[in-house]
Amino acid sequence: MSSILVINAGSSSVKYQLIEPQTEERLASGLVERIGEPEGRLVHRSDDGREEERRVHVADHTAAFAEMVAAFERAGTPVAALGIAAVGHRVVQGGSVFSAPTRIDDLVAAQILELGSLAPLHNPGQHQAIVAARERFPGVPHVAVFDTAFHQTMPQEAYAYAIDSGVAERHGIRRYGFHGTSHQVVSRRAAEFLGRPIESLRQIVLHLGNGASACAVAAGRSIDTSMGFTPLEGLVMGTRGGDLDPGALLHLLREGYAVDELDRLLNHGSGLLGFTGTGDFRDVRAAADAGDDEAALAIAVYAHRVRRYLGAYLVELGGADAIVFTAGVGENNAALRAEICAGLEWFGIRIDGSRNESPDRGARRISADDSRVEVLVVPTDEEAEIARQTRALVG
Ligand code: ADP
Repeated sequence: MSSILVINAGSSSVKYQLIEPQTEERLASGLVERIGEPEGRLVHRSDDGREEERRVHVADHTAAFAEMVAAFERAGTPVAALGIAAVGHRVVQGGSVFSAPTRIDDLVAAQILELGSLAPLHNPGQHQAIVAARERFPGVPHVAVFDTAFHQTMPQEAYAYAIDSGVAERHGIRRYGFHGTSHQVVSRRAAEFLGRPIESLRQIVLHLGNGASACAVAAGRSIDTSMGFTPLEGLVMGTRGGDLDPGALLHLLREGYAVDELDRLLNHGSGLLGFTGTGDFRDVRAAADAGDDEAALAIAVYAHRVRRYLGAYLVELGGADAIVFTAGVGENNAALRAEICAGLEWFGIRIDGSRNESPDRGARRISADDSRVEVLVVPTDEEAEIARQTRALVG
């Protein structure tokens, strides 16, 4: 049996899943976190449900892979016996360079590092993991799957910012979009669920998780998405506020804010958390239900923003065949789905209350029979999609 090891690395963590790509069965998963700190942590889950958690000291990503390999051994499934056929790496920023999954050689690895100037929070750690994984698993192909690649089909009018074109060119300032792997797998699964060719569908995919983005998908291709130059633009998220007048940032800079303070504010201190003190949608919903005004406002702004993009994409696509909710909030919060779709009957969008409230977890229809637009909930699975794309590339 051959399996694909999927790596999702950050600057101080490595998450991994071992996936049988045809059945998408998880053979193992785990994470090593707090790399570089005095005390790190490893969690390893085997396919029989056993879980090992232990304190580890990992100086760097190379040491993290050594810990992962040791965990497989302790679980009685040494990696040498697992038939790992390839390693698929999630890479956040592929810039304008990468529009498809790409086999990693020294040049590609160097380009991923270079693109770190556009994604300083992501690409450098992912590059370190790629270097360490290629050292640890030298005999198998390594493939980079980029969050941005799916959005490389956006037309220029959707990705260009209207600023001085020389400045934009010199600094690579344009909209790249993120969550591409999720938008891709969800739009494909939605088409499969509907039993219709993806080429015939206009879809609006709403990925509402800790991070959140909307995507207009025409015939299986992204034509617009709400995240831009960075994953800060667009929708309200757990700790990011989405769209903001850049003039507000100039004002804060003039008021004495340092760049790092603004970075923290925008990436970690805004969104749901900025309104309420917590970025977890469940907690915000519970607080709103208990009468907390700030929490109610947070959800109102969140839903309002999603609806603004929904309207924009209905226009860009010339109507829609399907609206697809996915990710932690989108898959689980029926009340939010109802709020987002309220009053849209004029557009042919009508939710069925009991379908929307159903406790089902798989792909499902929540629109009413007389809704012209299909409204679906389709679980995302970025890791399975990375495994699938890796396998498709290496054969
Ligand atoms: P990530 O972007 O980290 O992958 P997820 O897609 O897992 O995030 O989404 C996390 C979000 O989903 C959190 O805000 C969490 O509160 C929310 N969430 C998870 N389960 C539920 C639920 N049952 N009801 C409402 N929100 C939920």
